[in-house]
Amino acid sequence: MIRTHLEDQVALVTGGARGIGAAIASRLAAGGAHVIVNYRGSEDDANAVVTAIHAAGGSAEALQADVADAQATETLFRGVFSEHGRLDILVNNAGVAKDALLATMRDRDWQKVIDVNLGGLQRCTRLALQRMMPARSGCIVNLSSIQALRGGRGQANYAAAKAGVLGLTRAAALEVADRGIRINAVLPGFIETDMTAMIQRRAGDEVLARIPAGRFGTPEDVAGLVLFLCSEDAAYITGQAFTVDGGMSIA
Ligand code: NAD
Repeated sequence: MIRTHLEDQVALVTGGARGIGAAIASRLAAGGAHVIVNYRGSEDDANAVVTAIHAAGGSAEALQADVADAQATETLFRGVFSEHGRLDILVNNAGVAKDALLATMRDRDWQKVIDVNLGGLQRCTRLALQRMMPARSGCIVNLSSIQALRGGRGQANYAAAKAGVLGLTRAAALEVADRGIRINAVLPGFIETDMTAMIQRRAGDEVLARIPAGRFGTPEDVAGLVLFLCSEDAAYITGQAFTVDGGMSIA
């Protein structure tokens, strides 16, 4: 059994209203943490995640902020710190994809993907560290992607952002390891969520044929790994990148 012991801990999951983020929020809450479900626009979805956590006996609240907006993100963290006085776990999950071939990619689609997936993640990490460093403890998990390693046709912006997440994870982990703070990255393969729904409809069989495990991943497959990384059993693990892809990246 994984020693979770997240009781009395406060966790923030960005983009936690659906998909992988919602599954992570539920698992952290089941582990005993009070979970802040951040959302950008989908208040109803975020409230539904919170209601489900409460129904299962957990503790959670929903807080709005666009992580690509510096001021809104600072307000989010200020609110968390003033309400709870601590932040033990940050899961940088919020992400977007705007696929296009690089030769014809619009500047705004490049910028948007960098701003959310990398810019928002570095801002949230920085703000969290301001509280975790004096506390001399904390755990941050960053959602990267196997596209950080493989590229991906039509995904130059996304692959660049997710590769940037790996660099940031390692550099930041080095800076704060001696303060008892761990920072790791998770690289999902093809997980069934809204983000991948269109690809699944258009080319699902083709993608499935490239997954040795013979099935698409589920948000719960990723959430289990994130929960482990936030647990006491992962106390000596930092600056690492973990793939959860049913073997896709080695096929
Ligand atoms: P999703 O689109 O279902 O969910 C992403 C969530 O992030 C949504 O709730 C969305 O509203 C939120 N979000 C987007 N921009 C935001 C912003 N600016 N501020 C706050 N929230 C914002 O996608 P998902 O599949 O659940 O992906 C979750 C994470 O996992 C992302 O970082 C994604 O890049 C990564 N990932 C997903 C897959 C996959 O196959 N689904 C694979 C690799 C990596």
